[in-house]
Amino acid sequence: MDLRCKLYQSMTLNKDKQEQVFEENRKAQRAGESYRLGIMGGTFDPVHYGHLAVAETVYWKMDLGSVMFVPSRQPPHKKERWISPVEHRYQMTLLATASNPHFWVSRQEIERSGYSYAIDTVREVKRIFGPHLEAYFIVGTDALLDLLSWKDIVELIDLCFFIVASRPGYDFIEARPNHLFSDRGEKIKTVEVPSLAISSTDIRERVIRGKPIRYLLPEAVEQYIWSSQLYSAV
Ligand code: ATP
Ligand code: MG
Repeated sequence: MDLRCKLYQSMTLNKDKQEQVFEENRKAQRAGESYRLGIMGGTFDPVHYGHLAVAETVYWKMDLGSVMFVPSRQPPHKKERWISPVEHRYQMTLLATASNPHFWVSRQEIERSGYSYAIDTVREVKRIFGPHLEAYFIVGTDALLDLLSWKDIVELIDLCFFIVASRPGYDFIEARPNHLFSDRGEKIKTVEVPSLAISSTDIRERVIRGKPIRYLLPEAVEQYIWSSQLYSAV
């Protein structure tokens, strides 16, 4: 199947999955239960198997209904470096998640102007799905290093469960801001994920240097990178 067909198919599938999540949330609400939604934020420049393994492991360990991938329009912590246009990153995330029935992609941060703050995303999720929704905000251990600079971090942790996935090269104990964890430890959970030392930075550098990226990310995403000439022209 050519890439354009794959993209079209991924978009259609994504719409169906999104509608199903809304329906399951309504059903849970009627039954007086909470729908458990994973929120996997990221720049996804490009999305790779590290992201997918984290989302799948957390989905399974936390018994989630689905995981929503949220490509960030303008990550506040990446002001200094050039990032690919968000529509490219959105389309790659669609391609990467299409074959997984409990993964879907949200345009929430894409449609919002200005910097993409996690707190705004979680607040919006609660507004759309209702206050009974249980949100599980997923990050890798490296994200803990600058956690204290996140907008309204205390309120964010009050609003959701904060799931910290292991990431090769980062130590949970060293990275965590202690006072936040001692006050709100019950809202923060660590999840051990099979170690994949893959990063988008490394993939972008590989493309620039002509090194292989095969098996680091889904084939369709690799195809997308070649056909859109991403990274190589930087
Ligand atoms: P970059 O190198 O451009 O920062 P990245 O590989 O870190 O890219 P991001 O889009 O920044 O990818 O990451 C989104 C989220 O996924 C972050 O919370 C990050 O910690 C987590 N993550 C990314 N790669 C891995 C990995 N290999 N293992 C565990 N967590 C990961
Ligand atoms: Mg990163």
